[in-house]
Amino acid sequence: MTTMATFPLAVVGTVALDDVATPAGEARAVLGGSATYFSVAASLFTRVGLVGVVGEDFPVKFRELLAGRDIDLSGLETAKGRTFHWAGRYDGAMNAATTLQTDLNVLETFTPRLSEAHRRAPVVFLANIAPSIQHSVLDQLLPPASGARLVVADTMNLWIDVQREPLLAVLRRVDGLLVNDQEARSLSGEKNLIAAGRRLLGAGPRFVIVKKGEHGAFLFAKDRAFALPSYPLEDVRDPTGAGDSFAGGLLGALAAGRHATTADLIDAMIYGTVTASFAVSTFSLDGLARVSPADVQQRAAELRRFVDPRPG
Ligand code: AMP
Repeated sequence: MTTMATFPLAVVGTVALDDVATPAGEARAVLGGSATYFSVAASLFTRVGLVGVVGEDFPVKFRELLAGRDIDLSGLETAKGRTFHWAGRYDGAMNAATTLQTDLNVLETFTPRLSEAHRRAPVVFLANIAPSIQHSVLDQLLPPASGARLVVADTMNLWIDVQREPLLAVLRRVDGLLVNDQEARSLSGEKNLIAAGRRLLGAGPRFVIVKKGEHGAFLFAKDRAFALPSYPLEDVRDPTGAGDSFAGGLLGALAAGRHATTADLIDAMIYGTVTASFAVSTFSLDGLARVSPADVQQRAAELRRFVDPRPG
């Protein structure tokens, strides 16, 4: 009898080759993708099963980087063709990416096939990818071995524009939504961010986290709202993957503890904020991949102190 691999956390999203330009420099054909940043951040807390697709051009060194961590790659398919490619640029304070090019390549025909272990993962993250693919994953989920399941989704302006209805249907099927401020506004149709958060909360999920780049993140839950600033960093070099690394820290911490009360979410936001701070201080995954769980705990303690209003 073979024993099934299990993991407390599964993610479906993109694994990409990115070209990125920021005021701090440029990087070409570097490792990126929503599932990639998410998995590297989450693997600082728990084992994560990555579901995605790459092309035949995906460099061995990038696969090795992922395989060398607590990331199960049995759900990472290699398909005929080229890996998903994204080119983007950040200007000024780098709070928003300008997409220069998106080549779906192998993603165009990707249909995720989840193993039993992925289907029963207690925590599932639908990272930024086509909403139709997010639905396909939701359709395949089975009850976890014990306890309740937590499903959280992310998205991006491209999908808000081209797959709006399927995306709104995803919102009705998940517990949580993570979006940035621009996405919250365009998805909800509300200019005011608080109104946008409230409206998205009414669209299905029981919590919504709106990320605001260097200004931190807002949590909207039925029973309370909460705001957390970013970890104070002076040297931001490449914000790519900040949102996905935030999600990885958040859900990694929740999956390691197996709870998702509002208090747990608030605590996990500290970890999401910290993993995002490591991601943005270098290009691609160079910084985040070098971090240890002890480094994460140290920054978490610093961030708690940063927001503590008591004197001394
Ligand atoms: P973030 O900065 O956290 O929003 O995520 C950046 C990552 O998302 C990059 O590494 C890109 O490869 C990936 N990405 C860019 N556009 C898309 C898209 N339309 N769908 C899914 N992933 C994308």
